[in-house]
Order: sequence, then structure tokens, then C-alpha cells
Amino acid sequence: MLEALRGEVVRCAQEAEAQGLCRWRSGNFSARDKATGLVCMTPSGVNRRLMIAEDIVVMDLDGRVAEAANGRKPSSEALMHLAAYEVRPDICAIAHTHSPFALVFAALERPIPGLVLEAAHLHCEGGSVPVAPFAPQGTQELADSVRAPLRMGDAMLLARHGALAVGTSLDDALLKAAYVEELAEVACRAAAISGGMMPAPLPPEAFVLRYPDKIK
Ligand SMILES: [Zn+2]
Repeated sequence: MLEALRGEVVRCAQEAEAQGLCRWRSGNFSARDKATGLVCMTPSGVNRRLMIAEDIVVMDLDGRVAEAANGRKPSSEALMHLAAYEVRPDICAIAHTHSPFALVFAALERPIPGLVLEAAHLHCEGGSVPVAPFAPQGTQELADSVRAPLRMGDAMLLARHGALAVGTSLDDALLKAAYVEELAEVACRAAAISGGMMPAPLPPEAFVLRYPDKIK
């Protein structure tokens, strides 16, 4: 069932690890099939480097498992993914990462300021990546905490935990996860060479993507 999409989830998860966006067994990834509404999600407790399409768990939006080979269980953060799909019916993929610089802001429970133009691609209200209050891993409380931030943009932080990026495809969600990390790294380094002072974020109007009126 949904073999191609399951393969895409594996590719995305392995690419995220190769990019340094998640290490060891942190992070999880999912994609929603437009036709059936079913969600393909990375399993818990499987080494990403060894993961194959058959390891990906298929479930419906209510969390009922439709297919899981070899007794695989969906990620412990499945509830969070399902809440994100519920609040954002326009999205088809989610990348949950524990990338190092984003984790610094998550640890401080501070939004990542939109200092450079990559922030425009995250569509976050005000240009900064918001942070949801802390909730324990795997709980309904954590799942519910993503609802408000995701109504305001395509990326967010989970306090003391990691980052979440959503998109219309797995590549879109992965690109946004990479932008979150880049913004966080730029902000950390900019503050470090400015004596701990964080530069002012770009004003919201700077994030509007424009195209040339005329190309000669
Ligand atoms: Zn996590």
C-alpha cells in the first residue's frame, strides 16, 4: 500500500540525517496521500540508515494503523503529526527535526528571529519562527501545542525539544526544515559576534516575495 510514498518518506528521512538536521534516532517524518488521506510515517526504534519502505507505517488521520510490516509501530510523535494535518488540511508532509542551532533556540524557549530572507519561505506571521510551550514527548498535550503556531506559519519550535516544518511535499517540508536551521545558525553567530546582542529582524514587509515587473 502506497509503496512509492513510503519510499519517499524513507528518502526524506535519510536526506535529513545526511544534512545534519537530525542525528541518532531523533526526528521523524510523514507524508499524507492526497487521494486516500492516509499518512505514511517513520516508525519508532528503527535505524534511519537501514530503514526501507516496508518499515514505514501507514495510518489514517484518526491514528488507526492501516498497515505496519513486521510489527512496526508509528513514531512516538505520531499524535503531533496527526494534529498538524488536522489543523492544516493544505499540507501533505511534515519534517520534525532536532537540528543543532534550532535546538539552541528551543532550549532558550525563544523564537528564531527572521534576520535573513530565507524566513520569507516559512510564511511565519511576523517573520520569526514561533515556539510552542514545553509538553512531554508523545503526549496529547504536545500534539495540541502545535495547533496555534501552525495556523500562523509553516515552521515552529517545540520548547526544549526540536523543530517542526510542514509543506505541500516532502521536499518542501525538508527545505523548510533546512531554512529553520539556517536562520537559527545565522542568529546564533550574529549574536555571538555582536557581544550577545541579537540584530533586529527584517520588517514583515521585507518578506514579501517579489518578481520583476519587466525582464528585457
Ligand atoms: Zn522529537
